[in-house]
Amino acid sequence: MDFNDTPEEAAFRAEVRAWLEANAELRGPEDGGGVDLGELVDDETLSAAKAWQKKKADAGWACIRWPKEYGGRGATAIQGVIWNQEESKFKTALNIFGIGHGMCGPTVMTHGTPEQKERWIPKLLSGEEVWCQLFSEPSAGSDLAGLRSTAVRDGDDWIINGQKIWTTGAQFCDWGILVVRSDPNAVKHAGLSYFVVDMHSPGIEIKPIVQINGGTGFNEVFFDDVRIPDANRLSEVGNGWAVAITTLMNERASIGSGGGRAGIGDLLRLAQEVELNGAPAIEDSGVRQKLADFYVRSKAVQYTGNRTVSALSQGKTPGPEASLGKLVGAVLIQEIAAYGIELQGAAGVLNDHDNTAHEGSWQERYLGIPGLRVAGGTDEVLRNIIAERVLGLPPEARVDKGIAFKDIPTGPPSK
Ligand SMILES: Cc1cc2nc3c(=O)[nH]c(=O)nc-3n(C[C@H](O)[C@H](O)[C@H](O)COP(=O)(O)OP(=O)(O)OC[C@H]3O[C@@H](n4cnc5c(N)ncnc54)[C@H](O)[C@@H]3O)c2cc1C
Repeated sequence: MDFNDTPEEAAFRAEVRAWLEANAELRGPEDGGGVDLGELVDDETLSAAKAWQKKKADAGWACIRWPKEYGGRGATAIQGVIWNQEESKFKTALNIFGIGHGMCGPTVMTHGTPEQKERWIPKLLSGEEVWCQLFSEPSAGSDLAGLRSTAVRDGDDWIINGQKIWTTGAQFCDWGILVVRSDPNAVKHAGLSYFVVDMHSPGIEIKPIVQINGGTGFNEVFFDDVRIPDANRLSEVGNGWAVAITTLMNERASIGSGGGRAGIGDLLRLAQEVELNGAPAIEDSGVRQKLADFYVRSKAVQYTGNRTVSALSQGKTPGPEASLGKLVGAVLIQEIAAYGIELQGAAGVLNDHDNTAHEGSWQERYLGIPGLRVAGGTDEVLRNIIAERVLGLPPEARVDKGIAFKDIPTGPPSK
């Protein structure tokens, strides 16, 4: 594989870069590591995010990978990566559209009716409406098909009851993709249905969860007799798992192809700025060794990500390499952030924007990163995928196979 830009890719990169230079400022180390999970989103941040998205949409740079018929550019996977790489170098607004554009939009495009696409896609692309993903529940995360929120048909509506959790952005979203159990008599993966829910519906209560970094990136969402019109159903009744798989494949692809910024450039800059034993830390051989190690590993993650991009550009479904990249990449980002704090010596323990290097961005990243190791597949779940699909080890035992969901035991056997 040749990792240099082809002449066409270089031309595309130059076009992207020119537009970004004309419309945004370059990012510095004090502008954070791009780990935006869990940031505090206030009205100002929200307006800035929507304004940036609209600017891109007006100029034809929004959701460039989406087909032209949906307002995108029909860009290739490589062009998508080039756009992400270049945009990430600029100080743009917080990206609050990752779930909507990366997961919800593609799912509506694949499974929606023409009316549903017309209603939802344009405002999703332009940033006018923000979307969230209502999948996880207190007892259903890695084992998503174990979810217990219910949908019961009532005329032209469905009535939803139950609880979702870890719903990123729910407090400012307009629409949500929702998987619920419509038939408890069916086996676990059957009997699920998939809806799009208006987040302003009566009966929805949203409670932000405060995280260790002070942000409230995700929420608990309670459904109390919430009505959803049948016109908002995206799957056949009882076939919601198949639609959920479309969403999850897109989630994995967006995590794999995004590459993420490991923060190695920022770490290098920090090592030049701070002192160790009376000299710039970068002059210390131990520090240099550590930086070299991080650099090598970050390149390995980047190139592993390129294998996902290659698969996508050849029209293939990304394989387990996306899981490898995510597993190794999230640990690496965490180690780099920890080292960024260590290099600051005693000052590193301060979680203080004004009195720490790079305006507290290292501490901010470090506290936000544990979520990266859980969202989109925990370390253990990714290891299971690698064990089964790469190493060919036997699959996990399934004790719930072939049993009606309502008969799956949920506690110790009664005496
Ligand atoms: C920052 C962040 C944002 C999120 N945003 C959203 C969102 O917008 N919408 C949404 O629906 N969800 C969201 N989630 C939830 C996320 O999808 C779940 O946290 C994830 O699927 C794990 O589920 P869980 O938290 O219930 O943990 P569990 O699945 O209960 O796992 C608990 C522990 O058991 C381990 N474990 C579980 N199964 C196995 C197994 N088979 N083998 C070995 N070990 C296992 C796990 O690795 C983990 O250590 C978000 C999570 C985070 C951290």
